[in-house]
Amino acid sequence: MKISSAEFVMSNSEVAKCPNEPLPEYAFIGRSNVGKSSLINMLTDRKNLAKTSGRPGKTQLINHFKINNNWFLVDLPGYGYAQVSKKDKKTFQKYITNYFLERQQLVCSFVLIDIRHKPQTIDLEFMQWMGENGIPFSIIFTKADKLRPMAIQRHVADYINYLQNDMWEEAPHYFITSSSKKAGRDEVLAYIDTINLE
Ligand code: GDP
Repeated sequence: MKISSAEFVMSNSEVAKCPNEPLPEYAFIGRSNVGKSSLINMLTDRKNLAKTSGRPGKTQLINHFKINNNWFLVDLPGYGYAQVSKKDKKTFQKYITNYFLERQQLVCSFVLIDIRHKPQTIDLEFMQWMGENGIPFSIIFTKADKLRPMAIQRHVADYINYLQNDMWEEAPHYFITSSSKKAGRDEVLAYIDTINLE
C-alpha cells in the first residue's frame, strides 16, 4: 500500500464521539514506551504524525488518523504506566474497553510487544480479554533492531509458543518490525490491504 495521505482527525475519550464515517478502522495499542508512536510514524511515512514522547502515558485519548481517505488508523493510549492513579486507570480501562466492544468500524487491532521482553502479565491479560470477547487482533513485535537475527527468532518463537500452549490452540498472526530500520512496514500495510478487501 502506498500512503498518499495521512491526516489527524480527532482525539477523544468517548466512542460515541469518534468519527461518524463508515470507514474501516485499525487500532494500535500496547504498553507505554513500546514504540507505538514511532511505528505509526514509520507506517505512515510521516515524521511526526503520532507524537513520540519521552513521557510515557501522556497520550490518554483515542486518536483517529485518516489514511488515503479510505481507512482510519486509531492510536489508542498506552497501558501499564505505573504513575497513573487508580482512578485514571479505571476511567482509561472503561473507555478503551468500550471502544473495542462497541466500535462497529473496528476491523483489526494490533497489540504491540517489545521484542526484547518475555511475556508480561499485563499484555497477556489484555490479549486474553481480546480473545474472550472475540476481538480480532495481531501482534506487532517492535524494536527488532535491538536484537541479533538469531535472538529475534528465539524471542518470537518463545513468545508464540507461550501463547499457543497457554492461551490458544492457534497463536495470533504476528509481525516483526523496527521503526529505526523501517523494517516490517510493507508486511503490516499489505496485511491491512488484504483484510480491507475481505
Ligand atoms: P510509545 O510510548 O509507545 O509511543 O513509544 P515511542 O514511539 O515514543 O518510543 C519509545 C522509545 O523507544 C523512544 O525512545 C524511541 O526512540 C524508542 N523506539 C521506538 N521504536 C524503536 C525501534 O524500532 N528501535 C529502537 N531501537 N528504538 C525504538
